[in-house]
Formats: sequence, C-alpha cells, structure tokens
Amino acid sequence: MEHPENHEKYKGLTVNAGIEQPSSVNPFFKRKPRKSLRPVSEYVDGILKGDITMLSQAVTLVESMRHEHQQVAQEVIEKCLPHSGKSMRIGISGVPGAGKSTSIDVFGLHVLERSAGKLAVLAIDPSSERSKGSILGDKTRMEKLSVHPDSFIRPSPSAGSLGGVARKTRETIILCEAAGFDKIFVETVGVGQSETAVHSMVDFFLLIQLAGTGDELQGIKRGIMEMADGIIINKADGSNIDKAKLAATQFRNALHLFPAPESGWTPKVLTYSGFYGTGIKEIWDMIYEYIDFVKDNGYFQIRRNQQSKYWMYESINEQLRESFYNNPIIEEMLPQKEQLVLQRNLTSFVAAKNLLDAYFDQMKK
Ligand code: GDP
Repeated sequence: MEHPENHEKYKGLTVNAGIEQPSSVNPFFKRKPRKSLRPVSEYVDGILKGDITMLSQAVTLVESMRHEHQQVAQEVIEKCLPHSGKSMRIGISGVPGAGKSTSIDVFGLHVLERSAGKLAVLAIDPSSERSKGSILGDKTRMEKLSVHPDSFIRPSPSAGSLGGVARKTRETIILCEAAGFDKIFVETVGVGQSETAVHSMVDFFLLIQLAGTGDELQGIKRGIMEMADGIIINKADGSNIDKAKLAATQFRNALHLFPAPESGWTPKVLTYSGFYGTGIKEIWDMIYEYIDFVKDNGYFQIRRNQQSKYWMYESINEQLRESFYNNPIIEEMLPQKEQLVLQRNLTSFVAAKNLLDAYFDQMKK
C-alpha cells in the first residue's frame, strides 16, 4: 500500500520503505543471552514504586509479539489496572510538519510547571510498520522534555496492524498511570485512521493545524475535525499571524456546521506559536476548563466507559482474527481458495463460508 504521506497532498515529502537489518558480519560475534523474564510481581512492584527501568521493561513486553512475553504482559496489566485511570489523557494530532514535536516539548514543560506530577508521551504511528522504526514519540525530537526528570517518552510500538499498535499504546497508558504518571500525551500523525484510535483512548483530542493558502479546510477530513475537542493553529508568529487568525475564523465557522458534540462542550479554536512559546497558557487553560466541565457534567466518565467497551470489542476482533489466520488448516486452505476466487471458479462469499466452516468445525473438535 502506498504510504499516505506520499500522497500528492504532501508534496515534497516522501517516506522511504524501511530496510531489513543486515546479518552479522562477524561470525564469532556472540549475542548476549536474552534476559530472562522476571516474575510478574517484580514488574508490578517496580511499576507501582515508579521505577522507570521496570516500567520500560514491562512496556517492551507489552510490545513484544512473543507469546510468553504477552502472557506476562497481560498479567502485569491486570495487576496494574486498579492503580490506573487517575490521569489526564490528551491526544495530539497533526500532519507531518505541523509542529507536533516542537509543541509537545513546550506543552510538556508547561503542564509540568503548572502542576506537580509526571508526564508520559506515547505515540501511535501507523507508518512505523512500513518504515521499520517509529518516528513519532522519538526522544530526539523533544529536546527539553527528554531530559526532564519527570517525563517518560516512548516511541510508537512498531509491529502489527494499526489496531494492534493502538492496543499496545492503550495498555502502555495503564502501566504508566500505575507508575504514577498523571499526565499522558498520545501523539499521532494526522492522516486518517490513527486519529480514531487515539480518540478512543484520550479525554481530550487536540488537533494541530497550520494556516495556509486559505483552502486549508479542504485538506482535512470532516471526521477528524468532528473528533477534535480543540483545534490549535500553530506558527502564528512573524508575518503569519494574520493568516493564522483568518484560518482560526474559518475553522470556527466550519465547526458551527457540525452537530453539537455529545460532551456538551463547544470545541474552541486558538492560535499559538510552539516555536516562540506564545499562546501556550491559553491552550492549557482551555484543556483544564474542558476537563472540569466534563467532570462536572459526567461526560468524562461516560467517555471512558465507552472507550473501555470499544477496547473490549477491539480485543475480541483482533484475537479472533489472529486465531483464524494462524490456524494451520486455514493457512493451508487460504491460498487455494484465493486462487479459485481469482480464477472465478468460486465466489468470494462461498470461499469465505468454506473457510469459516472449516475453522469452526476444527474448533469444535
Ligand atoms: P512535526 O512533524 O509535526 O513533529 O513538526 P516539527 O515540530 O518537527 O516542526 C516542523 C517544522 O516547523 C520545524 O522546522 C519547526 O522548527 C517548525 N515549527 C514548529 N513550530 C513552529 C512555530 O510555532 N513557528 C514557526 N515559525 N515554525 C515552527
């Protein structure tokens, strides 16, 4: 599939396919033996004490595809669950170049100064599967925050489908909260589906936009705008200030056309400059105002409940899919059925039914 950032909309940007790691050139080189897994209680105790090394190791298990790692990870998550939930979860999205890293660096320092506590910056990067390494959430992009003693920055998990990557990020939120992180940022690139995933795990969804040539509204999908609890126009500095203000007016007008959000909150549009650090306080005043507002009217909990339900179904879907496609009989049948469909000797629906029947028959045994 063509990478979304290679679309002509993002002229001048190309995403190169990742490369496989070369094999070792030194045949005598011995890899260090894999560290053995710790008992579940050791991870849990470490996390609850706020031990960052233990938290990182547990997150690595969450991200791992290996069965034994997943087993331990799930147990750790379950034990951490009662200690989670007491944080403010903020989703931050914007197209490449919108200024996400610059902004998160500044936002992070602002929230840590504003109230004591700890901040975790996580990411969902659907492109990381293809580029074999994730870009979002990379420490080097957030210079000041990455050296702050109260921050924890973790790049996007890189394996699996968007749903899988997003689930791992959601599980990581639980571990971070149990480790005492009371402010969570989840970053994603604003090109489509990944916003839905982020929206399904945060309390406030912030969309970073840029002022452009006056037709910026055409560029973003309606669905993304509808999800936003706040839209902020970055780079409102120098000669760009008027353009940014104009864009803000256009966004405000566009938002009026959407149905009123379930939260009862009217999404706000603000301008700011991440680079010069102007307008930052106003953005966070808005976010804190929103949190108070939805906590008062009960929507905060409603949204979190809806999200838990969403993730229950997501988990079921993912595990069913995995169980089906990893079933040896299905693995053998799939290419044959596919050929028959391609040769038009079988309809897609009959092929699907045959495969599902075979799967369920085997499950009964
Ligand atoms: P990301 O791809 O969304 O993470 O965007 P970056 O934070 O890497 O920013 C992309 C470019 O925009 C960089 O060259 C930044 O220096 C620049 N930039 C970010 N914020 C601002 C801003 O507030 N004003 C101006 N003029 N430039 C900015």
